[in-house]
Amino acid sequence: MGEILYDRDVQLGELVRLRASYCEACDRWEFPVRDYCPTCPAPVVVAALPGPARVVGFTAVMHAPPGSLVAVPYVLAVAAFLGGISIMGVVDNVELGDLEVGVLVDVIAAARGDIACYAYRLQQR
Ligand SMILES: [Zn+2]
Repeated sequence: MGEILYDRDVQLGELVRLRASYCEACDRWEFPVRDYCPTCPAPVVVAALPGPARVVGFTAVMHAPPGSLVAVPYVLAVAAFLGGISIMGVVDNVELGDLEVGVLVDVIAAARGDIACYAYRLQQR
């Protein structure tokens, strides 16, 4: 990946805010950060997405896709952020039965092999 995903230096498992680009003209977020708005010529700004995010869909992955760095089985969720963008991510340390549409997840710093990435963590209720 190599790109900067978070708004600061962090330890694994720490809460993070994902860096995304925002177009004021379109009121539209993009993740990962883009240098331009995909729908208009206005300049974008890079900002940290406010969390937490609300799960809008999820599934279990039982068979690893080619090249996958995540050990199966794992849970994948799409979560909606306040800005209106939905982002897919692995939910760490969760069973499929623990999730339901509408629950809140935090974004945490994670790593797959030696590649820095992010994951979702179910908020305690
Ligand atoms: Zn735009």
